[in-house]
Amino acid sequence: MDIHTPSLTAVRQRIAAAETRFNRSRDSVALLAVSKTRTPAAILAVARQSQRRFAENYLQEALPKIEVLASEALEWHFIGRLQSNKTEAITRHFDWVHTLDRAKIATRLNDQRPSFLPPLNVLVQVNIDEEPTKSGIVLDQLPALIEAILHYPHLRLRGLMALPAPRTDFEQQRMPFRRLAKAWAQLRGRGIALDTLSMGTSGDFEAAIAEGATLLRIGTAIFGSREAPP
Ligand SMILES: *Cc1c(COP(=O)(O)O)cnc(C)c1O
Repeated sequence: MDIHTPSLTAVRQRIAAAETRFNRSRDSVALLAVSKTRTPAAILAVARQSQRRFAENYLQEALPKIEVLASEALEWHFIGRLQSNKTEAITRHFDWVHTLDRAKIATRLNDQRPSFLPPLNVLVQVNIDEEPTKSGIVLDQLPALIEAILHYPHLRLRGLMALPAPRTDFEQQRMPFRRLAKAWAQLRGRGIALDTLSMGTSGDFEAAIAEGATLLRIGTAIFGSREAPP
């Protein structure tokens, strides 16, 4: 099979090869299947191949899918833009949020997380290329937000996330991931127990693995093109 034919098996093989090539330990890189626009049947087909982690961007699209697939005991990650009026439903239906980038939303997520659920796993999204229209906090402001989040009992801070501007050259792809990994290592060096570095999508995940990603967010390489499904 051509490695660019979309499939979970092909992605797993590429991840394993990159772990070897970049001296990452075997299975040190976890895979999050990005299922936005995919039907429950398509998600189920992937879940049946022992893929437990799925990510969605839009609450209204995600809720019926999460409900239909409830018996599969999947882990759901929210990776879309966080709007204040959506936070309550997110705290009830998701296990992780990758896109936390401001204190006001952190407060809402903490206050709204139901106490019968474990703390919500959160990642702070960094606008690593400092793009004006992108979500995420700039690196300068990261330490203050981290401090605030650490005080919230219903949030469990797990690490950092970024979605850099697309680049085609491999060495160029590595640079923003390296900056994010450095910020993550600095926080860990200060004794903050982070274990997750969420970076790398279909077009650049090998570069992310090279720079230390622990969690990849991959959609099209697993499911096929979102514009023209096969
Ligand atoms: C859609 C999306 C992805 C997956 O992108 P692919 O190119 O389909 O792998 C990853 N991260 C975020 C934040 C996304 O919105």
